[in-house]
Amino acid sequence: MSLEAVPQEEAVTGPVPVVAVVGRPNVGKSTLVNRIIGRRQAVVEDTPGVTRDRVPYDAQWSGRQFTVVDTGGWEPDAKDRAAAIAAQAEAAVATADVVLFVVDSTVGATDVDEAAVKMLRRSAKPVLLVANKADNQNIELESAALWSLGLGQPYPVSALHGRGSGDLLDAVLEALPEPPPVTEPGPRGPRRVALIGRPNVGKSSLLNRLAREERAVVDSVAGTTVDPVDSLVQIGGETWQLVDTAGLRKRAGRASGTEYYASLRTAGAIEAAEVAVVLLDASEPISEQDQRILGMVTEAGRALVIAFNKWDLVDDDRRYQLEKEVDRELRRIPWALRVNISAKTGRAVDKLAPALRTALDSWETRVPTGQLNQWLTALVQATPHPVRGGRAPRVLFATQAGTRPPRFVLFTTGPLDAGYQRFVERKLREEFGFAGSPVEVSVRPRK
Ligand code: GDP
Ligand code: GDP
Repeated sequence: MSLEAVPQEEAVTGPVPVVAVVGRPNVGKSTLVNRIIGRRQAVVEDTPGVTRDRVPYDAQWSGRQFTVVDTGGWEPDAKDRAAAIAAQAEAAVATADVVLFVVDSTVGATDVDEAAVKMLRRSAKPVLLVANKADNQNIELESAALWSLGLGQPYPVSALHGRGSGDLLDAVLEALPEPPPVTEPGPRGPRRVALIGRPNVGKSSLLNRLAREERAVVDSVAGTTVDPVDSLVQIGGETWQLVDTAGLRKRAGRASGTEYYASLRTAGAIEAAEVAVVLLDASEPISEQDQRILGMVTEAGRALVIAFNKWDLVDDDRRYQLEKEVDRELRRIPWALRVNISAKTGRAVDKLAPALRTALDSWETRVPTGQLNQWLTALVQATPHPVRGGRAPRVLFATQAGTRPPRFVLFTTGPLDAGYQRFVERKLREEFGFAGSPVEVSVRPRK
């Protein structure tokens, strides 16, 4: 299994749009999908009469990422032909942002095509009419007759030879929803870390320890500006930006302020950071305030490392107690990375940097769509959604909508039971890991 860590600059923050390719058998849908994803023979030939499952592929054009779904061909000889067409068209259209309706321009519009167009036009989704097999200019001119389908301008394309496919993809990008704004600015500086925890857990002690151990609190990093309230610290041979540590550097200044103010400050630090180190006092029970701070980190979708500080005070009895507490109090975040440190003695402080790196790697992991769906197909086959009132929603496919943290969208035929959704989430982690990072899974049922 190979996972790709996405460079910070390329992180996608919004959902990846879906383009569905629909049409009769043999009009060239698979060939077109291969052309769009820039691979040959990537799509398996389908057996005539057998409807292919919807298979999603990653695609990219002019720097924009989207998912292409190759839908099965409609079977015009089926008895309940109209119903079959309707079902296929509706399923494909409902999950898509843009529909490519493929017609064979050497054949022209058939009655099956016209039946399908009725369905497509009723949907609010943008439909682009692809006049495929326009291998030469003559056929291209003839394809103008497809205006009669009432879907607007036909795009003459030769999926086989590539003719016209660039223009088609330009039109696809135009029809896609607005791309998400790029939230991460410019050059990549040091990774941003929030050092947080309730009062007296040892935050300023740890900051001092890190600064002293490494004896290299640097003031600037080439090409970046660092907020004066932040600290640049070398940990494990790498420079990290500890955000909003001004209050920790000056003990005097931090005694003031209410708990409300402290919590605002913590929220601000989390917001500014990519990964949070939440310090807990290992010599004391995990408190409600600790829980609140952990909750703030996961709510904000940041990577998380829990540092059990004051480990020098932990004896065998306390360690036994703590294990039970962890099972009970941290059961909702079993994926959080944990290190047992002592800011006082310096114990295991060197474990911090590897944990931060692992958490950030997980946070930025992108699972290739093919790999994701191979796994998902096997999972839902082995354990389908339980039947409720004679019906069970099916999971059709999944895409990863974004990173930082990883976000997944399950495309389904209906709403999923909360329990089943949790099951899929749990299995997703078992398969792909994501240690140290929250993972979001949402469901997009077709309507
Ligand atoms: P699908 O059933 O709609 O997925 O159609 P396929 O992609 O399997 O294509 C059906 C047949 O049409 C295959 O023999 C393809 O090689 C052929 N074909 C697809 N696109 C073109 C094209 O642009 N020009 C020509 N001449 N043949 C094509
Ligand atoms: P902050 O409020 O989270 O910044 O906590 P401080 O760093 O001010 O530490 C609070 C108290 O805990 C101080 O008396 C520290 O000396 C003590 N302390 C911090 N880290 C450790 C540790 O690892 N072991 C022990 N025994 N005491 C610690």
